[in-house]
Amino acid sequence: MPRFAAGVVRFQNEVYPEKKDLFEQLSKGQEPEALFIACSDSRVETAMITQTQPGDLFIVRNAGNIVPPHTSHTGGITASIEFAVAALQVPHIVICGHTECGAMKGALNPDSLDSLPHVKEWLGYSSAAVEIVKALGENLNEEERMHKLLEQNVILQLQHLKTHPKVAMRLAKGDLSLHGWVYDIKTGGVNAYDEKQDKFLPVDVRYAAEMAKLATNGCAA
Ligand code: ZN
Repeated sequence: MPRFAAGVVRFQNEVYPEKKDLFEQLSKGQEPEALFIACSDSRVETAMITQTQPGDLFIVRNAGNIVPPHTSHTGGITASIEFAVAALQVPHIVICGHTECGAMKGALNPDSLDSLPHVKEWLGYSSAAVEIVKALGENLNEEERMHKLLEQNVILQLQHLKTHPKVAMRLAKGDLSLHGWVYDIKTGGVNAYDEKQDKFLPVDVRYAAEMAKLATNGCAA
């Protein structure tokens, strides 16, 4: 039996009974702390990284943690963003990239994607980040270029988020904050984009305290 099927049986027999009250509470509704946009990569385990429970994060995942800029075209990502921001009124949006991202490797080498036409087209939403890395990354080695691309892609997708009308409206009201993270699969480290310093800095106790203040004050990042 695959591990994930055996896991359902174990969940029902061992895990669910211990958290029965939580699940009963959740059956009445949800009030997630954040819209969390991550890559589909199997090594990115959002609940484990953030140590959150069911009900805490409204999650959108796709190859490359991409947010297409807003257009009149309806897509699943756009609809999910609209629902989280306007119906659920999430106070935070996190875009979480990660190291060893196959999508970003593909974005940097689009010729390798000729047999994956949809992936190739999808990664076009990262092309501005690729252009930046090509222009600024001449003196960087392969690993450094990849890392720069992961970061630039997160920054680019944050910009795309702001083109979504409900996001723009909530930012103008000042009760939504945006966050860009990169998760390191090997070390477990998470770095967050600091717009003022234009750098990625570790998510630590100080950062978590700042985020808590944002949630209560409703300040936009
Ligand atoms: Zn990825």
